[in-house]
Amino acid sequence: MNATASPDMLALTDGHGRTASYLRISVTDRCDLRCSYCMAEIMRFMSHNDVLRLEEFYRLAALFIRHGVRKIRITGGEPLVRKNVMRLFEMLSVHLGNGDLDEVTVTTNGSQLSRYADALYGAGVRRINVSLDSLDADHYRTLTRHGDLRKVLTGIDRALQAGLKVKINAVAMRGRFEQDVGDLIRFAHGRAMDLTLIEEMPLGLVAHDRSRSFLSLASLEKDLGRRWTLTPVSASTGGPARYVRIDETGGKLGFIMPMSCNFCSTCNRIRLDCCGRLYTCMGNEGSVPLRAILRSTSSDDRLEAAIVEAVAQKPARHSFSVGNAVAIDRHMSVLGG
Ligand code: SAM
Ligand code: SF4
Repeated sequence: MNATASPDMLALTDGHGRTASYLRISVTDRCDLRCSYCMAEIMRFMSHNDVLRLEEFYRLAALFIRHGVRKIRITGGEPLVRKNVMRLFEMLSVHLGNGDLDEVTVTTNGSQLSRYADALYGAGVRRINVSLDSLDADHYRTLTRHGDLRKVLTGIDRALQAGLKVKINAVAMRGRFEQDVGDLIRFAHGRAMDLTLIEEMPLGLVAHDRSRSFLSLASLEKDLGRRWTLTPVSASTGGPARYVRIDETGGKLGFIMPMSCNFCSTCNRIRLDCCGRLYTCMGNEGSVPLRAILRSTSSDDRLEAAIVEAVAQKPARHSFSVGNAVAIDRHMSVLGG
């Protein structure tokens, strides 16, 4: 398989003029935590046979790279609980080395980071996102249904020592989070890490009523603006987050508001779930199963045709709306954040 970018390859352009250059791969739907906004307490996970092997993920990734994908994020479930996951990072690192890829990143809950930080850096990863919603050990345990905050904090320290740039992600929810967010800001900015807040999205059935827990980041930003001096950062990151600088800390705070405001018009993302389904929009049910084609032939022609066709059909926008308990019958862990 030759993954070198070729000028005659079709770029992945959709019917609304957007080009897909950013691929997110969920390498497992399994996780060592059960965050209340993400999963139900008891989950049925995909069978091992249905989940792609690391070599299969790589074969697809290499195809996407040939079609112009420049950035890949490895996510899950918890990507760092996938057995031998470093093999995939190592295979992808070749494309960082030869300039076909700009970046390989990872989103993790941080529980295994102290074990993997050096290896990730060694495989060419330079930036990671760590999900952390509270700095109170008891509340963190409740929220994640058994997470150990100390492991995450140690993992973050190890990642910073390894030379990784760390961004903290936190899902905003009504109630306790509104008090805790100040500590998260001080913690992140005190270590020169950006913090991004994310609105809770109605993906999959969970134990609570999402219409009650939903906290609009537009209203939280107003509240934070009474406590801190927020100065808009004009430069766009190209992603869905909008950033402000907090004058008192000197750090950046991002807001991802899929529910309050729509950022679909500039979306350059496509996603592969752990079973090889290609989703061109996280907020729509539509997907194209690539696994059967992948396993039926060693030729890439049919895969390429399916991918080009799927991207061409990418929907104009997501279908979330506030008040839907479950807009999409799929947990975030299947497809990754
Ligand atoms: N396990 C890793 C982690 O937690 O970072 C990666 C996968 S997790 C599904 C990716 C991101 O999705 C995390 O930042 C998590 O907080 C976020 N997330 C999960 N469920 C969500 C939901 N219903 N709404 C908004 N964000 C969600
Ligand atoms: Fe696991 Fe990440 Fe979902 Fe939490 S948000 S349950 S860490 S996949």
